[in-house]
Amino acid sequence: MGLSYNEKYKHWNTKDPIDIGKITFNSKKGILFNNSEDNDENRKALISRYQGGKFSKDDKINSPTAGLGHEIIHAGNFLLDNANYFQRQEPFKNVDKNGFTNNEEIRTTILSNQVNEALNEPQRQVYWGIKIPTESVTSNKVK
Ligand SMILES: [Zn+2]
Repeated sequence: MGLSYNEKYKHWNTKDPIDIGKITFNSKKGILFNNSEDNDENRKALISRYQGGKFSKDDKINSPTAGLGHEIIHAGNFLLDNANYFQRQEPFKNVDKNGFTNNEEIRTTILSNQVNEALNEPQRQVYWGIKIPTESVTSNKVK
C-alpha cells in the first residue's frame, strides 16, 4: 500500500487501486532529511551538502528499514481505520511548511518515529527529503 511515486510523471499515485495492498520499498535507498522548513532554499542547500559530501550536524538519515516501517504503518492505518484512511489521504491544496502532502503522511510519520527510536535512528518531523543510497538495508550511513 502506501504511495508510489511515479518518476516519469513526477507525482504521487494516491488513488490508483493497484496500489492498495502493495508496499513499495526500495531496500537500497534511505532518506536524507533535515527537520527544517520545506522551501527551495533549504532543499537546494541539502542537495548541495549531499553532493559536496559535507553534512551539517542537523542533516539526518533514516535507513531503508525505517522506510519500510513507515510503509507498514500506512498498511496498519488502512486496516485499522479504513474509512478515515481515505479521508486522511485527501491531498492538501498546498504542501505544508514541513513538506506534508496529506494527513495520512503526518499521522504515519509521527507513528514511524517509534520505529526510528527502536532502530536508534533520528526522529523525523518533516516529510521532505532526498532518497539516497545507504551502505545496507539497515544502515543509515550514506554509501
Ligand atoms: Zn508515507
